[in-house]
Amino acid sequence: MSIWVGISACVLGDKVRFDGGHKLSRFVADELGRHFRFHPLCPEMAIGLGSPRPAIRLVGDPDHPRVQDSKGAGLDVTDQLDAFSDKVLPGLQHLAGYILCGKSPTCGMERVKLYSHEGEGLGKVGVGVFARRLMAAYPELPVEEDGRLHDPLLRENFVMRVMTYHQWLQLLAEGLSVQGLMDFHRRNKFLLLAHHQRLYRELGPLIAKACQNDLAQVAGDYIRRFMAALARPAKRRDQANVLMHLQGFFKKVLEPQEKAELAALIDDYRQGLVPLMAPLTLLNHHLRRHPLPYLAEQRYLQPYPSDLKLRYGL
Ligand code: SF4
Repeated sequence: MSIWVGISACVLGDKVRFDGGHKLSRFVADELGRHFRFHPLCPEMAIGLGSPRPAIRLVGDPDHPRVQDSKGAGLDVTDQLDAFSDKVLPGLQHLAGYILCGKSPTCGMERVKLYSHEGEGLGKVGVGVFARRLMAAYPELPVEEDGRLHDPLLRENFVMRVMTYHQWLQLLAEGLSVQGLMDFHRRNKFLLLAHHQRLYRELGPLIAKACQNDLAQVAGDYIRRFMAALARPAKRRDQANVLMHLQGFFKKVLEPQEKAELAALIDDYRQGLVPLMAPLTLLNHHLRRHPLPYLAEQRYLQPYPSDLKLRYGL
């Protein structure tokens, strides 16, 4: 099953912007493109605005802004963009993530400039009108902006969430079952622990109570809270906590010297002296020598393809 990711078409290099240009992200197109299948959309082109076209901006109420041309020429495309969202959003259920173009009055995820009806700047307090509808329709969907993907922490977090949500979509496609839900939770336990200790403690019991009668309701509640937990970037302290948990599984099979080496590396990571990859590489090495089925299936140890090198900078 392909990993489908929606994307603002300009970020993929399509010349659809108001100025006739694009906003190609090489990382997205070249690196992520090896693993994801993109579903490009340009709402402004789709409603019939050409390229180039007059620049538009958000105007008025931050929660219900109008989208109007910047020169005050009387163009208002709010209703067309709403109608486009009504039409296209129901068909995006296959997406495991979405990459939006920042700052756009249509696609911007956050901090979009807002103006008063008199043309006065009201600050970067808006959300693009299509982005707002997308996030409301699919609250669990991992969504990120092109510019924010330059940040190693946000980039790693987004890709990890996409790969995880894709597994959830696979589970739904195969047919949701109590066992499937439990398997999903078991494989993702340490990932969850690294991101949100409280939800780690709450979601286990929620799953344990699931039965066929209320499965759809429990699963909906579970995935909403689970994806919200993963959206919180893991702190170094929490990662170190997970590494120590994993270390515990090896206490009967490692030599004293090997245990000391692993403990020292985890401590070095906790202090910021080595990247996360260092203790993880050693843990994976020990796992290959001492196969432990429960650990081997933990997605925390390999949450995405290693060629993306996402943990090198953490
Ligand atoms: S930001 Fe969105 S609406 Fe603007 S050019 Fe890119 S895809 Fe089209």
